[in-house]
This record gives sequence, C-alpha cells and structure tokens, in this order.
Amino acid sequence: MIVFTETAGAAGNISELFQRISELSALTLSLTGGRVTIERDLRQSGEQPRSATLAARVKDMVDSARTVTLESVISMPFGSYGEVQKINCGFALDVDDSAPGFGIGCAIHEMWENYQAREILNDSWNHRFGPAHSGAIDVENAVVSELRGGRVARMATHRVRDGGDTYYVMDYHTTLVAIRQNGHGRRQAYEAVVIPPRIVETIQLYPGAVSVDTNAKAISHALKLLAENPPATAGISGPLATSIRDMIAVQFKQDVYLDGDPARGLEKIHDKGQGADRGDLRAFVEAATPQDAPDGQIVIRGFPED
Ligand SMILES: [Zn+2]
Repeated sequence: MIVFTETAGAAGNISELFQRISELSALTLSLTGGRVTIERDLRQSGEQPRSATLAARVKDMVDSARTVTLESVISMPFGSYGEVQKINCGFALDVDDSAPGFGIGCAIHEMWENYQAREILNDSWNHRFGPAHSGAIDVENAVVSELRGGRVARMATHRVRDGGDTYYVMDYHTTLVAIRQNGHGRRQAYEAVVIPPRIVETIQLYPGAVSVDTNAKAISHALKLLAENPPATAGISGPLATSIRDMIAVQFKQDVYLDGDPARGLEKIHDKGQGADRGDLRAFVEAATPQDAPDGQIVIRGFPED
C-alpha cells in the first residue's frame, strides 16, 4: 500500500506526479483519501508501458502488505529517507519537464527507498538506509534508462555553490545532469540541463601502491582539479579506489569519517549500512578497473568548455 500525506503548498503536486507516473507506466493510478490505488492496469489490454520497471515497482508497492508512507514536501529538493519518506513532487515534475526521465527517476527512488526499508527486517531503521538506498538507485537507473533509451547509472551527486547560486550535479556516467533552483518556498522551481561529460584529466595511480601515501601527489592533484572545477566529479578505479573516494569525501565535507584502520585510512563514523554512499558523493568507485590501467586511475569529469 502507498499512503501519501500533504504539506501546505505542495498539495497539487502529488496528483500531478501520479498523473505523470500513470502516463509512463500504463497504470491508471488514483489517489483517494491519501491512498494510491490502481484503477486500471492497461498492460492487461496489451498497452506497453514507457518504463516496464516503473510499472512493475509501483504495482509491487501498491500490492504490498506493508505501507509505504510518503509526505509531499517543498522544504528540500529530492526528498529524504525516514519512516515517513519525504518527497518533493514539484522538484520531480520540474526536473522531468526539463530533463525527461530523470525527475521520475528521482521520484521512484524516494518511494522505493521507503518500501525497501520496510522489507529489510532484523536491523535498526538507521542501518536499513544503506541497502534501501542502494536498491533505490538500481530502480532509478533502470527507470531512467528505459525512459531515455540507452544506459545510465547514477555514480555521483553533489551540491555546487557558484557565487550566490546553488545547484546540483548528478553524474549518470554517460551523462551529467545539472539542476538549478529558482525561487524559494511556494515560488520554488527547478530547471535541469543534460550535459555530455568532458574528461578534464585522467590521473594514473602508481603500481604496487599499498597505501594512499604512495599516491599522495596524484591524490592532491585530483583534489586541486576538483577545487578548480566545482561541477567536476572523480571516478576512481584500482585497489585503492575506496580509500581515495573516502579521502575526497572528507576533503569536500560530504561525509563524516575518522582515522581508523591503517590499511583503509578512514573509517565511517555513522554506519548507515552497506551501500549508503552509493551515487551520493562527489567521488565514486568505478565498477571495473580498465585493463590498460591495472593500478587504477582517477578520472576527473566535468562540463564541456564553452
Ligand atoms: Zn536514497
């Protein structure tokens, strides 16, 4: 079951969001008394959904014995994890208007995260965040890939401050999405731009390195490039990838770590469960190490030069 509550100012957006999801999933969804129901499943009469994953996952949630609890808010972009999952429907719709697929991807992420957390038992609500978030990233990637055609995978997300402006960069590996907020409160609106990534620099890591110290120069060069290029992200491969990813997260205050295990260098203070960092930091661990760079490398990617 999916239950939705409204906060003042965000009300109209819930039905608009479900209207959009209906169009893309071949499900006729309606919201009655705060509860989402499937009035008709047009797939049964042969209609092909634009995203089969979106249709399947929405049906999973609606049919579930557990209650997915959502609250429509405008106090933050995206949404946030919790027993009551916050979701900014207006943000999702605005992003989807300007970058079709990506906004609905963000919306299904928030919903599925709450659903997954309810399926993971025998652990604290806080520890369920990592696996719930990671599962939500998988669903988001599948939905966005189906809606846009081709393959996207969210690797990084970070907030960029540019003078008095703030925007978000999401790195989907084959494409970057930049989301800017205009106005605040009830006047807020978001605009997304889809940008092909440019490789700023590829930094080779050294062979036989057993600790990050051996690669201190390479890492400080990467940090310098990231500081000079506020939208840029860092994709890291090789045996030291996780340690270097953590160091960059600390440097840009994206997460809280402390000195711990000497081999790994840093240890997370707040354990939110495996997968909590996935797709949410500025630096990320590449799925594979390139064959021609077995010791690993740091690839800095940013916007094209104008
Ligand atoms: Zn998440």
